[in-house]
Amino acid sequence: MVTREALHQAAAMLRRSRRPLLISHPRPDGDTVGSTLALRLALIALGKEPIVACVHPIPESFRFLPGAESYRREVDESDGFDLVVAIDMSDLRRTGGLYRESWRGRYPLLVIDHHETNLNFGDLNLVAPHAAATALVMEPLITAMGVTVRDAIATCLLTATLTDTRGLRTHSTTLEVMEAVCRFVERGGDYHTAVWEALDAKPMRQMKAWGVALDRLRAEDGLVWTTYPVAEKERLGISDEEDLDLGGLISQVREARIAVSFNEMRDGTVKLSLRSRPPYNVATVAAALGGGGHRQAAGCSVEGPLEAAVARVLPLLRRLLDEGATEAV
Ligand code: 5GP
Ligand code: MN
Repeated sequence: MVTREALHQAAAMLRRSRRPLLISHPRPDGDTVGSTLALRLALIALGKEPIVACVHPIPESFRFLPGAESYRREVDESDGFDLVVAIDMSDLRRTGGLYRESWRGRYPLLVIDHHETNLNFGDLNLVAPHAAATALVMEPLITAMGVTVRDAIATCLLTATLTDTRGLRTHSTTLEVMEAVCRFVERGGDYHTAVWEALDAKPMRQMKAWGVALDRLRAEDGLVWTTYPVAEKERLGISDEEDLDLGGLISQVREARIAVSFNEMRDGTVKLSLRSRPPYNVATVAAALGGGGHRQAAGCSVEGPLEAAVARVLPLLRRLLDEGATEAV
């Protein structure tokens, strides 16, 4: 967990700011959106004028969250921000290009995250590598800012925690995580809306995409994978920005000890979603390929075409399976 001192330093940094820029990662998930919007509301409660930004649109699943409509796709210096906050991301590239190198040294950079692969790239880093969600770092931070976590803020943090734990099902789900969820509900977080909107409800085209991905599913000795070509996206009208959660889908295959989806992008790259069951640690493989993530859920982008990406990555995962358990932390 992060230290009290770090929490207070971060709270002081936010209190000093008049107009902080909060950045969520590309292909935004519930944790990056929920944690960002919770912080936005806390800052507004303190009379600040935060800006929230993400290079990609906010998926339908998270548009019910208060403030989701305030996201912007672009920002520049003329927006008058005086602090940059990177939320739920392990390196600067995960701002998706929103952060410009020329900002370094001009605006303080605060990082709030929970990835073991975090590069501590901020001027101040609030990183809890074993926390199940960034939301669980955000909760004590908001409290340290002197704002009460309740109602809309609680709904944002609740959604973030429920999505990053796939409904309290991941191995990162501890008793403390369950207690946090109870706390958010006690304080007015809207549990049933969060569960339906963010976890269960899928757009029709995502269901159709799952059909395609399941049809293309392959398995071999504990390794399960699928490929999703651009041609199939065209057919269903799916954009590259959409997170189809193919990794989460195929990780449910009983035989899978390691699962990976290869999602072909229109720029020729291939987005990988890696999932594993303990003791296999896929974060190391993702990091070696220029990405990052958690032991049991990680991702990265590699060069295409699809077949080349598959031929390059499967041997790395076969080796991981052969080696068995990786080093414990
Ligand atoms: P997903 O497979 O659902 O896209 O991502 C699984 C986990 O890996 C998430 O925690 C996500 O933040 C992280 N992740 C996914 N893609 C990348 C990437 O390209 N770079 C980094 N650093 N992390 C990633
Ligand atoms: Mn997260």
